[in-house]
Amino acid sequence: RSWWDHVTPALKDPINAVTDAFLADPCPYKINLGVGAYRDDEGKPVVLQCVREAEGKIGGTNFLESTSTAISSKLVEESAKLIYGEDSDVIKEKRFAGIPALSGTGACRIFAEFQKRFYPDSTIYFPDPTWSNHRNIWGDAHVPGRTFHYYHPDSKGLNFVALMDDVKNAPDGSFFLLHPCAHNPTGVDPTDEQWREISSLFKVKNHFPFFDVAYQGFASGDVERDAQAIRIFLEDGHSIGCAQSFAKNLGLYGHRVGCLSNLTRIDCFSILCNDKIQAVAIKSQLKQISNTMYGSPPIHGISLVSKILSNPDIKALWLKEVKVMATRIQRMRATLREALERLRSPLNWQHITNQVGMFCFSGLTRAEVDQLAKEFHIYMTHDGRISMAGVTTKNVDYVARAIHEVTA
Ligand code: PLP
Repeated sequence: RSWWDHVTPALKDPINAVTDAFLADPCPYKINLGVGAYRDDEGKPVVLQCVREAEGKIGGTNFLESTSTAISSKLVEESAKLIYGEDSDVIKEKRFAGIPALSGTGACRIFAEFQKRFYPDSTIYFPDPTWSNHRNIWGDAHVPGRTFHYYHPDSKGLNFVALMDDVKNAPDGSFFLLHPCAHNPTGVDPTDEQWREISSLFKVKNHFPFFDVAYQGFASGDVERDAQAIRIFLEDGHSIGCAQSFAKNLGLYGHRVGCLSNLTRIDCFSILCNDKIQAVAIKSQLKQISNTMYGSPPIHGISLVSKILSNPDIKALWLKEVKVMATRIQRMRATLREALERLRSPLNWQHITNQVGMFCFSGLTRAEVDQLAKEFHIYMTHDGRISMAGVTTKNVDYVARAIHEVTA
């Protein structure tokens, strides 16, 4: 008998499963619409010019020697400015506690652990649907997950009435996970007015909003505009938790080092506090949690992002590049919808352009998704989520024709 006889394979991550099926398909014109990573109009991954420029500036070896507290603090401060606003009082008064985290996933994981430690009997409400890993992350931290209504399959938009009912009916003082922009997987975001109503109700109910910001800039092309939901909550005086990922909007998915598949991408995690003393206490606890999980984070990516966010010229370049990525995706949404309408599809495809960000929650059924893979070599997750970044000028007509054939 071996030590590990009782180990059976873990359930496949739905997105990795799509990638595996795509890679196994020998067809030369196969298309992967599964992965939520930006691709250019040639279908190629992009290294942003702002990253190249920052790389040139952080050269040298001094910073490689240690995890510099100064560099980490800079990242946290710049990330907080990006999300809470450069001129906001919380920045001036240093009323936020933050630490660098291992990408958005790591930021969520640290918060889940922190939540468990200081609210051991609490639960967390996720939108239905949400990013598939949320439930696993909080589950591994032993925080039970529940759901609140979000998406309406008929309108393929927001089920605002049911959402507000669920917020109202949750026990006072509940934790809620919110996507402030470019919701994954639906591409459906509340309007500013709806965010205001949600924020007011959170105030009445004394709920805690935890924002998972994985796509800042991808909804509107403007990182400030995409932070509007958080700014609304900020104005209303909420205590806020925030996980920020730079994987997508800086194209830094792959900053990995070492073994055990440690993600070493750089992100930031922050919590707004009542005062500076509370901020110091919270930060020390967050650091203790991350210390036992992975020690300190790799410094190279942190240096890169700090440089991009703090150097006005490089930051201006980044903002332009985010706009280019978001605009390409918006153009592909319009082109895909037009192509389906030109084919005289009997279905309504308005939601392709109503939804925002990286994803289109197409409404395709599981059987239709399977048929797309089998007959047309087009791959996407079983819930019908299309990663719009995988659609290009060259393949959009083929994708439209295939969708039309399986739905007509
Ligand atoms: N949160 C959401 C909503 C996401 O969609 C993702 C990635 O798909 C993440 C967090 C994690 O991103 P990262 O790659 O930064 O860990």
